[in-house]
Amino acid sequence: MAVLQCPKCLKEMSYSEDIVGQSTACPHCQNVTVVPAPLPVLEYESHLPAAKTTAMGETSLILGLFSLPSLCWCPAVGIPITITGLVLGFVALHTAGRQAAIAGIVLNTIGLAGSSFATVEMASRFN
Ligand SMILES: [Zn+2]
Repeated sequence: MAVLQCPKCLKEMSYSEDIVGQSTACPHCQNVTVVPAPLPVLEYESHLPAAKTTAMGETSLILGLFSLPSLCWCPAVGIPITITGLVLGFVALHTAGRQAAIAGIVLNTIGLAGSSFATVEMASRFN
């Protein structure tokens, strides 16, 4: 059973779905109404824009993850990687990719600090 509002007395009247398109009389005022087809349920959540905006936060996270092992073999490479990751992370903070962006910012901050320290440490050995 479904419920329909009578256009004349505005009271609710119940009807069976199999009389859609046929006329039925209101039990309250006897007004004859054609039963409309039920409205389709609209999908308000669209996944396309969300997927597009999470990409930046995820890229920041991936750059952060990538910068950590680079500390071992070439810390100087980690500096531009982590700066890029930090910028992307901060931009992505206001998007749907917020959680990945926060993780990316944390990892890139650690990576940048580690890369800077290791680069300075390496340079001082040659002097
Ligand atoms: Zn009525």
